[in-house]
Amino acid sequence: MLLGCIADDFTGATDLANMLVRGGMRTVQTIGVPAGEADSAALQADAVVVALKSRTIAPEEAVAQSLAALKWLQAHGCKQFYFKYCSTFDSTPRGNIGPVIDALMDALDCNFTIACPAFPKNGRTIFRGYLFVGDVPLNESGMKDHPLTPMTDANLVRVLQAQTKRKVGLVRYDTVSDGATAIGERIAALRRDGVAMAVVDAVSDADLHAIGEACADLPLITAGSGVALGLPANFRRAGLLKHESHAAQLPRVAGAAAVVSGSCSTATNAQVAEWQKGRPAFRIDALELSANPGLVEDALRWARERVDREPVLIYATSTPEQVKAVQARLGVEQAGALVENALADIALGLVQTGVRKLVVAGGETSGAVVGRLGVTSLRIGPQIDPGVPWTVSEGATQMGEPVALALKSGNFGTVDFFAKALSKLA
Ligand code: ADP
Repeated sequence: MLLGCIADDFTGATDLANMLVRGGMRTVQTIGVPAGEADSAALQADAVVVALKSRTIAPEEAVAQSLAALKWLQAHGCKQFYFKYCSTFDSTPRGNIGPVIDALMDALDCNFTIACPAFPKNGRTIFRGYLFVGDVPLNESGMKDHPLTPMTDANLVRVLQAQTKRKVGLVRYDTVSDGATAIGERIAALRRDGVAMAVVDAVSDADLHAIGEACADLPLITAGSGVALGLPANFRRAGLLKHESHAAQLPRVAGAAAVVSGSCSTATNAQVAEWQKGRPAFRIDALELSANPGLVEDALRWARERVDREPVLIYATSTPEQVKAVQARLGVEQAGALVENALADIALGLVQTGVRKLVVAGGETSGAVVGRLGVTSLRIGPQIDPGVPWTVSEGATQMGEPVALALKSGNFGTVDFFAKALSKLA
């Protein structure tokens, strides 16, 4: 294992894993810190991404989980480490980005790292230390109203400095645009000045490649998924990673196919509508579900009659107005949990009837499904649409056999995403 990654949320972990696979690194994503010894599959990877859910929990707890992940990755031979956070640097005023970086630096006895959430392809760029989302500074973007991590300052040097006692500095775009050597020289100068963390400007993929190259020898890198673009080349240059690679190759999985959707995002609504133009679909009505738990069994009975012949969709996906009406009746959290639980039960029921290819729409919904299936790690395969790869479950699961899973969060994917994903496995 060459690179050990710690991600502060589940879909962020998949995003990073997808990036590494595209760069030619065989990558496994674990759900939480693996308990005990790794199975052999995890050891046959070039990179492991441990997916935590530590973005908004108490800083002490985030630190404890991140250190546990680090310890596991160290025990399995990783030499370089990557702390992955959101490309909008989502954090509360107390952290958790600063406290986790501090703890990882202490544990690794390392006196310098970078901080670079840039992801230009997704509109996240950094200039003079200011993070932009599309055309506006972070604090003018939708992030200013985020329910859990409102971001009111776009200056990342200031944001990070408020979260750490170590000195925070900046590698300006002028240096970054001069390439890896210039970045390296600037890092050396900052270190001499006692800077321990440097925010790094980046506005293009070329910048990310240069930053990655300049960070080849850093024990710890902290970033969004963007900086990972430049890392596989470092391992190749060092002769540790082969040039020709089959990193995205997944074991073949045979069996029936289904889609379970609990996302109510705009893109998912369109994807569900597109599927219904010619394919079988069963709607879970949240209000009906609250009165009749037998609806889960009805859905499974309906699916069992069809799924051997053709893929089926079971969905709770609704328009924002419908969701609001349900939430007003049941409560926001209760409605979410009720639907997530039902869809997780349905996913397990589908797998028990022989489904082995499962597309799941919705970030929280995916978390619930993966948990119910008892999946603890995923081998990351080819990309279906940006940010969404096919994966295959590894290790011990509820069903014993591997299941191919495509976990799509919110607004990802083209309108024909469901059929497209399944056609890629055929
Ligand atoms: P996304 O990735 O699009 O945000 P999530 O799965 O993360 O999707 O979140 C969607 C939430 O909405 C889940 O908690 C899900 O259970 C809930 N939900 C799904 N369908 C309905 C519905 N018809 N009414 C109310 N809540 C719903």
